[in-house]
Amino acid sequence: MEKQWQQVAEHLKATLDQAKYDAWIEPVRIALDGNQLHITAPGRFFLDGLKRDCGAPLRQAVDLMLGTQVVIDYHVDDSIQAHAAAETVRVQAAAAPTGKVDGNIDPRFTFANFVVGSSNEFVFAASQAVAEKPGENYNPLYVHGGVGLGKTHLIHAIANTLIEANQYTIAYRTGERFTNELIESIRTRTTQDFRERYRQVDVLIIDDVQFIEGKTSTQEEFFHTFNALHEVHKQIILVSDRNPHNMAHLEERLRSRFNWGLVADIQPPNLETRLAILHCKAELAGIDLDNDVGYLLASRISNNVRELEGALTRLNAYAHLTRKEISLDMAKHVLREQLRVVDRVVDVDDIQKKVADYYAIQLKEMKSSRRSRNVSFPRQVAMFLCKELTRKSLPEIGEAFGGRDHTTILYACRKIDEMRKSDAEFNDEVERLMRSIRPESM
Ligand code: ADP
Ligand code: MG
Repeated sequence: MEKQWQQVAEHLKATLDQAKYDAWIEPVRIALDGNQLHITAPGRFFLDGLKRDCGAPLRQAVDLMLGTQVVIDYHVDDSIQAHAAAETVRVQAAAAPTGKVDGNIDPRFTFANFVVGSSNEFVFAASQAVAEKPGENYNPLYVHGGVGLGKTHLIHAIANTLIEANQYTIAYRTGERFTNELIESIRTRTTQDFRERYRQVDVLIIDDVQFIEGKTSTQEEFFHTFNALHEVHKQIILVSDRNPHNMAHLEERLRSRFNWGLVADIQPPNLETRLAILHCKAELAGIDLDNDVGYLLASRISNNVRELEGALTRLNAYAHLTRKEISLDMAKHVLREQLRVVDRVVDVDDIQKKVADYYAIQLKEMKSSRRSRNVSFPRQVAMFLCKELTRKSLPEIGEAFGGRDHTTILYACRKIDEMRKSDAEFNDEVERLMRSIRPESM
């Protein structure tokens, strides 16, 4: 046993820096019992530090020298004296900056540059908490939301805060790059290196993790990396375009792990927040933006911040090229394509007319109280489309259908929704109708 541990210790000496080795590994008591390696630390505080600073390399050394089947059991015995010398080295080690970052972090994506509104305040607070005390609060932190809503910005802000603290090893990867690196390492038979690289970090950030969905070997590898890091309280941050529940081809055991920590979503910002973001971006880029131009953009480009930013950039480029000041007219001209999509307002009358035509019933049947199926069904389709394509509330829609109760509208929406799911042909029919009502946006 002495000899076996010696090999582990040698490996650790080679991989850790001397100060860390002396501080954390030297003082512990070791016992190997079959497949159990007992590590006894002189105190709870010490044990936490040991796990934090050396947990991952220790696991790795054990995997390599004793085999992955060996389980590490940590214990505390207050009667062991951590030697004083080690303690001083530890303090010195803690004072020396040891921060490292592997991966491209955009320094412009900071918390200070992130505009907080009701759509993102929760996930913003969670991100700050994680940045302050990685590994302690929410682990993993799983952020999800639609395209261009600031997910990447937020996790880069966490990374930038950690970089500033200068005491963490950070790895940032997209799901795609993680997968490619793994494939490459399998091809070149360097999976061991691949593994070690990720298991030495304090913070692992995977952006667009949905990319690993359905990729069996990547999921498998990620699962083990996840466990190795999580076990020793290293922070894991994941970003996805969807909720773990909606990752259809995600292995169940990964899904459950994603839910261990905090799952937080980011919603499209409301008008007020969009305006604030726009002005923030304008200021950062040194662009003079009038309130009315800002309002035009923010009110018309509503569900993707990246597009909003893109519109501003185009406008600014145009102003530079033509050597003119940005104005409302210029904005309307330059962004006409982008603004046109949302320009055409669909109203209830349009929908009722189109649907009545489609099913060859009279328009007035939309508002009548007749209940025979040949009129009630088209009416329900129209109600559903009003809910989908206009911003009217249920009571307002009810009003437009001859003063019906909002529960009737709700019932119709649910029914049509169900039918679309179970009947592909009907679903096509509904989509055709949608396109005919709102051709530009589909
Ligand atoms: P996602 O990763 O969700 O697709 P990004 O983080 O790449 O989106 O954001 C797209 C752009 O929108 C970035 O330039 C980002 O800075 C900006 N952005 C999104 N939300 C905000 C916000 N709340 N405050 C400031 N900028 C934002
Ligand atoms: Mg992103």
